[in-house]
Amino acid sequence: MRRRDVTKIEWVRSHDGSEGMSWNALRAIRIDEDGKRRSANHCEHVNEACRFCYAEKLNARLGGLPFKPGHRKDYTFEIDEKKLLEPLRRKKPTRIFCESMSDMFGEWWPEEFIDQEYAVMGMAHWHTFINLSKRPKRRRDYLNSPTKRNDIELAAERIRASKGLAVSPKWCFQWPLPNVIEGTSVSCQEEADAFVPILLDTPAALRVVSAEPLLGPIDFRHNWQPEGICIDWLKGCNGTEPPIPRIDWLIVGGESGPSARPMHPAWARAIREQCKAAGVAFFFKQWGEFAPSTFTRRLGQQIAMTEHGKVERRPEIIAPSETVMERLGKKAAGRLLDGVEYNEFPR
Ligand code: SF4
Repeated sequence: MRRRDVTKIEWVRSHDGSEGMSWNALRAIRIDEDGKRRSANHCEHVNEACRFCYAEKLNARLGGLPFKPGHRKDYTFEIDEKKLLEPLRRKKPTRIFCESMSDMFGEWWPEEFIDQEYAVMGMAHWHTFINLSKRPKRRRDYLNSPTKRNDIELAAERIRASKGLAVSPKWCFQWPLPNVIEGTSVSCQEEADAFVPILLDTPAALRVVSAEPLLGPIDFRHNWQPEGICIDWLKGCNGTEPPIPRIDWLIVGGESGPSARPMHPAWARAIREQCKAAGVAFFFKQWGEFAPSTFTRRLGQQIAMTEHGKVERRPEIIAPSETVMERLGKKAAGRLLDGVEYNEFPR
């Protein structure tokens, strides 16, 4: 993989502290006004958390179009073969963030592209792939399809044969792939209620939920299903046998960027305590733009915030129910929660 594929995202760092990689083989191609072929990324907003999508901003800088469904017609969608095979070329075991500039399960990506990505993930068994999607339904249906394992093994065989790669004994795939962590992103209870049950119904060796940007409180423990059963997503049991799958890893982070929305400390603390009680790995990625106030910045950079997410720009009049947050910027805000850096990773 090339230097520019190195990512500074903390949750893909290896145990030895070395940086992880992002892997973006899916490409949106268009011919611009000058007749030049442009290779960009494409995605589409799913919910409120996508409003300040970092990938969309980066894509715009590279000459890509806004992440809107209307732009599907402006592209042809391709898979970059060189990029696709990069994990196979990298020998050092690495944590790899799949399709960090899009969503592998966006409806516009043909299923045969996804087969090829899973084939490479299976072949590159020495890496750990982290696959976040806000389209958990398409992924569940894809991975639950009775022919899928076979499709992926055939795709792997085609890649092997066309590239003249030697056969590795480890290529007899275990299913689900043991080196792929399937995950979804949620920013509030409503999104968690919609996405987490689908993630738990998806074949996966391990499951991660990224609560980033965290825009409201989320209770991952007591979730009532339509049938009247209460399921604890962190303990993975509802009192019946066999126990249902659980979330193995939770990542929490605040939003960054000029228009960022603050994350109330109580939301992050509550998730940390839920994880602790259930023995689930907890990773605190960042505060983002705002952190609990140290009153070090000039007046006007502070806001008063309630646990319900209500924000007032008059922190000098603070009600007991309010916390003062300060716009420090992502770097200065850092990633300590109550003085501790949480870097847990599932085993
Ligand atoms: S799904 Fe992810 S990449 Fe796509 S628009 Fe939303 S935040 Fe951006």
